[in-house]
Amino acid sequence: MTLGIGIIGAAGRMGRMLVEASQQLDGFHLAAACDRAGGSAVGRDAGELAGLGALGVQVAEKVTEAVQAADVVIDFSLPDATERVASACADAGRPLVLGTTGLGPEQQAAVDRLAEQVAVVQAANYSTGVTLLTALVEQAAHALGDSADVEIIEAHHRHKVDAPSGTALRLGEAVAGVLGRDLHEHAVYGREGQEGPRDRRTIGFETIRAGDIVGEHTVLFAGDGERLELTHKASRRSTFAFGAYRAAMWASQQPPGRYDMRDVLGIAGSAAGIESPR
Ligand code: NAD
Repeated sequence: MTLGIGIIGAAGRMGRMLVEASQQLDGFHLAAACDRAGGSAVGRDAGELAGLGALGVQVAEKVTEAVQAADVVIDFSLPDATERVASACADAGRPLVLGTTGLGPEQQAAVDRLAEQVAVVQAANYSTGVTLLTALVEQAAHALGDSADVEIIEAHHRHKVDAPSGTALRLGEAVAGVLGRDLHEHAVYGREGQEGPRDRRTIGFETIRAGDIVGEHTVLFAGDGERLELTHKASRRSTFAFGAYRAAMWASQQPPGRYDMRDVLGIAGSAAGIESPR
């Protein structure tokens, strides 16, 4: 028995990678695929879209159809799909692995409600390296306290629509959580003009959008006389896809709740010796 995966956003960059991964990994089969209603992908074979040849799974336009046909749903689409996906998963009782970033408060609330009924894994980044980076960043923030200026620099390909990246924001939340700061109050997004000297308690974000960069994140801790830079570079999208499948298998065996990649990897709160701020 293999786990049937339903992919939402199947025609996108990540969606096509997820379709490909379904054919490479043991223990899974592609049960359903869905993309934006009215889009050119609807009705086409998901395998052909991914450049693999026909797999016999047509891209559906109805989220409910794709969700019902799956054992676990993986969604890497856009935030305007999130509420519909959450409600379809609630109705069908299907666990959700959510990769879509840039959710607004109502979309996030729909995900939180779903997590009362089924297992939901939500991570801004499904790579193992970034999951470890987050733990290491918390450890550094804990050790350095208010003595260092913290800046988060991220770079992505030219097609990415949200900024800063969900991963950069998650790293900012991790630092703010350890240092007892409110990110909304202390975040500074880019700088220009006569800004005056830096306020030590700010957490700065710098965004680069260029070419085909898959995803790079650096957290810079700069003190007097030394600086620490923790960097992660993703070179292939498959790293996110493989992580999402690992999360899907794990979620299929979990009780209702909202989880992140640390839970999946079994390192929640342990790598840094600090509880993960949620
Ligand atoms: P993309 O634009 O290439 O693909 C998005 C796909 O979703 C498109 O095919 C689009 O037609 C489809 N879509 C849009 N609205 C839809 C709807 N209402 N219903 C169904 N399908 C819909 O984007 P991408 O680069 O593949 O990224 C997708 C999302 O995943 C983004 O939010 C991105 O930030 C996120 N992402 C997350 C991770 C992670 O590890 N968590 C990694 C990479 C990308």
